Amino acid sequence: MSRLFFADMNAFFASCEQQERPELRGKPMIVVPYANMETTCAIAASYEAKALGIKTGTRVKAARKVCPQLEVVEARPQVYLDYHTALLDVLNAHFVSIQVLSVDEMACRISCLHTTTEAETRLARQVKADIYHRLGEGLHCSVGIGPNVFLAKVAGDRQKPCGLTVWSNEDLPDALFDLQLLDLPGIANRMLLRLEAHGIRTVRQLYEADSLALKRAWGRGRSALVLDAPGQPGGRLRAIYRAAV
Ligand SMILES: [Mg+2]
Repeated sequence: MSRLFFADMNAFFASCEQQERPELRGKPMIVVPYANMETTCAIAASYEAKALGIKTGTRVKAARKVCPQLEVVEARPQVYLDYHTALLDVLNAHFVSIQVLSVDEMACRISCLHTTTEAETRLARQVKADIYHRLGEGLHCSVGIGPNVFLAKVAGDRQKPCGLTVWSNEDLPDALFDLQLLDLPGIANRMLLRLEAHGIRTVRQLYEADSLALKRAWGRGRSALVLDAPGQPGGRLRAIYRAAV
């Protein structure tokens, strides 16, 4: 039975800049693709900016209106790639199998040496400490552990920006039932409307829906994937995630 460790670097580009440039730490700041273009959008926002409601996709002009002293920083892709490579180095020291899902998200298979929640928690704390040691304290890393990539990711989303959530197989599926449908990766506003139109309003209803109901709700072309992964806690939800991405 496999167990997955999911690392997500939060506000990644903004945190890299705050790490590289200490004068930006503790300040509301955004990263933009091009400097001196007021019509462009933020591609990352620091946690100080997020606290003001500024986020990825917010236009520079609108962000400045909210926060006149906002720092606007031009993106430096090579710098972010260097941090990505450093993160990969750290993970490679702890895991044999790593799936890179994006520049700041990675899923790693946990070795069968770590069989208990305590052992997994110890491992995760060590990996997180190594990440901060290597990349810097300015970074934000949330970690989730669960029985598949989807559930490990959802677990990691529970405590942002720097938390650690371990879902043992005994915790599931109950741990999911406190969540909103929009908390699940792959479900955004349009999908939410579709699900609601099919009578699925809670994660419990989604989990308990039979495959025909899911097929109907999800629409044609994606339905086969919904049938995937039987006999695993949250397996059906993993399939939904696959169908949605
Ligand atoms: Mg991220």
